[in-house]
Amino acid sequence: MQLHHQINPSYWQTVSFPPLPALRRDRSADVCIVGAGIAGLTTAYVLLKNGFKVILLDKDTLGNNETARTSGHLSNVLDEGLTQLISTLGEESARKAIASHTDAMELIEKIIQEEKIDCDFKRVEGYLYLSPETNKDYLNQELHSARKLGFSDVELQASPTHFADLEA
Ligand SMILES: Cc1cc2nc3c(=O)[nH]c(=O)nc-3n(C[C@H](O)[C@H](O)[C@H](O)COP(=O)(O)OP(=O)(O)OC[C@H]3O[C@@H](n4cnc5c(N)ncnc54)[C@H](O)[C@@H]3O)c2cc1C
Repeated sequence: MQLHHQINPSYWQTVSFPPLPALRRDRSADVCIVGAGIAGLTTAYVLLKNGFKVILLDKDTLGNNETARTSGHLSNVLDEGLTQLISTLGEESARKAIASHTDAMELIEKIIQEEKIDCDFKRVEGYLYLSPETNKDYLNQELHSARKLGFSDVELQASPTHFADLEA
């Protein structure tokens, strides 16, 4: 069986970054970040843009761990589902979690524009499917939770109608 990341490798899997130089002497900085995956790299980028001196450390090369395995989609609907999110965090914190993902997507879009990064960034419709083993009421529950959390443009469809948009 071929795994998804072997068929469609992420950008990170197609680029070989040079090994990072070892830290051989004392250095000083405002902030030291451990981990040069997407989280550490983004933090370093934002801090540098704001005038901080940053040291970024990694035991491996850039973006070579979980970051390399991304399928490259961004969403403010968290993987565990909105009903589960409310049940785990409560409504107020669930809203904050969603807002943090919305802010992250906006930051990424802004960086792409400012740095003129040619990465096919596109905002598209998102679909949540019912898997055969899932309770048929799951989508209704998700719709109800989505509206509760302020997603106003969510609707239940018998089948997706926007495949053409996704493929365009
Ligand atoms: C198959 C798959 C698909 C995914 N698809 C998506 C997606 O479509 N969209 C999405 O948003 N997310 C997706 N994710 C999740 C996303 O990839 C991760 O949330 C994200 O990459 C985590 O980034 P990170 O920087 O926190 O971690 P990492 O990329 O793992 O970076 C952590 C870094 O820290 C370094 N490190 C760890 N310990 C030390 C140490 N002691 N000293 C020095 N360095 C250290 C590691 O070497 C590593 O480079 C996916 C994940 C997987 C596995």
